[in-house]
Amino acid sequence: MVRVIMLSPPGAGKGTHGRWLTQQTGAEHISSGDLLRAEVARGSALGRRLAEYSARGDLVPDKLILSILMPAVVAAARKTGGYVLDGFPRTMAQALRSARWGLELGLSSDAVIYLTAPEEELISRLLDRAQREGRVDDTLDVIKHRLAVFTRETEPLVDYYRDRGILLEVSTDRPEQEVRADLRDWFQARGLISPGAGDASVVSGAAGAVADEASAVASEASA
Ligand code: ADP
Repeated sequence: MVRVIMLSPPGAGKGTHGRWLTQQTGAEHISSGDLLRAEVARGSALGRRLAEYSARGDLVPDKLILSILMPAVVAAARKTGGYVLDGFPRTMAQALRSARWGLELGLSSDAVIYLTAPEEELISRLLDRAQREGRVDDTLDVIKHRLAVFTRETEPLVDYYRDRGILLEVSTDRPEQEVRADLRDWFQARGLISPGAGDASVVSGAAGAVADEASAVASEASA
């Protein structure tokens, strides 16, 4: 089962292409942004803390994102053994943490998809999305801040994953079908999309170990 990280600036299409990859591979789609927004919508104390960072376009602290994300990774590991991680990792500390889980649990990522588009295109897509979805962080000032945060905190991960030989860089400044064709070719060439890709694989031992770490992270975050 394939394990993919979607790494891209806001507006480059990691949600759209991540969902498509999920359909192609049968892996679980885990969007850190969706998980955060769900927690905010629940109106919990944690959700109120998260909302402050997200509304400003800042990253939420690593400890908080880990406490939200780990249970979803546990569930994905139990269910399919694969994942499409959309929006995580986003800092070098998160990348190193996730590499450590990968080694400990036999859940290392096979592929990192780095989607790109020119900055003015990203801004225009996000402003369009603001009309459709009304996300509080899709105002021009906050969008520009999120792009700057991407450049400072997340872009260094591109070289880190390129050096590991698992990075595919794809421009999304062209028709969606072309992007999908490139993704499909690349995954097929590496044997990462196969006819049996939708089958569930059993990784209960690993999932149990992730669960232990998840509860440790959660109690640390609530401390
Ligand atoms: P986008 O890629 O359009 O910025 P996301 O939905 O992926 O949107 O993320 C929205 C917000 O959620 C981010 O601006 C940030 O505040 C928070 N967030 C999401 N993922 C992470 C992460 N891995 N680490 C820290 N903050 C995160």
